[in-house]
Amino acid sequence: MDLAEGVLKGDRRALARLLTLVENRSPGVEETLRRLYPHSGRARCIGVTGLPGAGKSTLVYALTAELRRRGVKVGVIAIDPSSPFTRGALLGDRIRMQDLTSDPGVFIRSMATRGAMGGLAAGTIDAMMVMDAFGMDVIIVETVGAGQDEVDVVRAAQTVLVVEIPGTGDEVQSLKAGILEIADIFVVNKADREGVDATVAHLRQLISLQPKQERAYAIPVIKTVAVANDGISALANAIEAHQRFLSESGRLEKRNAERVRFQILALSQHRLMERLLKASQEAGLLEELVQAVNARTLDPYVAARRLEQVIEDPVHLTTSI
Ligand code: GDP
Repeated sequence: MDLAEGVLKGDRRALARLLTLVENRSPGVEETLRRLYPHSGRARCIGVTGLPGAGKSTLVYALTAELRRRGVKVGVIAIDPSSPFTRGALLGDRIRMQDLTSDPGVFIRSMATRGAMGGLAAGTIDAMMVMDAFGMDVIIVETVGAGQDEVDVVRAAQTVLVVEIPGTGDEVQSLKAGILEIADIFVVNKADREGVDATVAHLRQLISLQPKQERAYAIPVIKTVAVANDGISALANAIEAHQRFLSESGRLEKRNAERVRFQILALSQHRLMERLLKASQEAGLLEELVQAVNARTLDPYVAARRLEQVIEDPVHLTTSI
């Protein structure tokens, strides 16, 4: 089967197979992606981040169900390798999960955080593009806000949700990862727990201290109880409002340009790294350098420069472009 054609026709098996090729960065997959690219660009992209256990997966599930009630087709990409989307049974409500996965208007996919540098970011953005070309209206990317790689991935979304849980002020952990700057909407999930109002007040205060505030857009703080479906409709409304703000203020184009810049760099970074590793391994150069540095006959700075020469060589640069 021709995968690009299958995806455009709405064939879910073709979509699943292509996403696997994307995840593995299989050779030749870029030709298929290039054919799909002209058919993408319509979907809205939402990033969801927060610490493990904040309830992101539960929230994404509830949000997806809410968007479906509004007639929106939803693609979900879960990057957290320990996400319940990959360990469905642990969520304890597998049946509900199946409800969603048997819905033709929903496609849920988890992506492993493997591969060379830039691979996760490139793969995720490609997966978003593929789901977009498949015909999904909204793509939700869920990730743990731990590594820089993952923060970057979320940045590729148009609307970024940062999920917090009730706790005292200094437990607002996301700050440490510098996530405050990328939040378009704060969600205080597990609002059935004590301390929720203090957390909301604290977040509001932090938002008011942000130097680069948008005059026309106040970052909302939404309370949710994902397990009980509370606040999910308000959250969907807040996402719509943010998307409207982006379109009306002309910021959407800016956001999209940021993503394109990030995508080009991620693809390039990944390809360069792959070439570097391949060429240096073929020549046995990497091993040689490791031994030399380990024996202290060479310093790591010179070793890195020698390694880079493998791709700085113009012969290498002109091939395979
Ligand atoms: P993730 O690691 O951020 O994806 O978090 P999960 O979605 O796996 O949720 C972690 C745990 O919190 C699970 O046991 C959920 O059932 C529970 N949980 C999620 N949302 C809520 C909520 O609003 N209130 C309460 N009390 N528990 C919740």
